[in-house]
Amino acid sequence: MTEEKTNRRLMEEAIEARKNAYVPYSHFAVGAALLTASGKIYRGCNIENAAYTPANCAERTAIFKAVSEGEREFLAIAVAAGPEGGELIRTAPCGVCRQVMMEFADYDAFTIILGTSPDDCRTYPLKKILPMGFGPAYKTEKEEN
Ligand SMILES: [Zn+2]
Repeated sequence: MTEEKTNRRLMEEAIEARKNAYVPYSHFAVGAALLTASGKIYRGCNIENAAYTPANCAERTAIFKAVSEGEREFLAIAVAAGPEGGELIRTAPCGVCRQVMMEFADYDAFTIILGTSPDDCRTYPLKKILPMGFGPAYKTEKEEN
């Protein structure tokens, strides 16, 4: 699990990322900040679309940005979410984002940080919020999980 100081920093970054959320339809703004094993932080925000389904979550935006820059090992992600212009609500990642985390994260160690402010962060291991997760290990090992 990540340390309190790191959690705070990531939540601050997620709050900054949330400012760029493009949410003209849901008006629910989300920011995320992903910490890589190399020590870099990638920000992401949710990006909606008039056709609805092409929308992308903040968590996946951050992960895809990192992957596209050559990063493959991730330690933690903070999520800051809530109504546009309003207070943060502790909001868990959607199932699709959990599955994308499963692809790149250490199932036992990756940490999801959810908070209503940098002073109010709670951490959850991926393993807890995605029980019996299906991931790359199934492609290379039998009955690994
Ligand atoms: Zn999502």
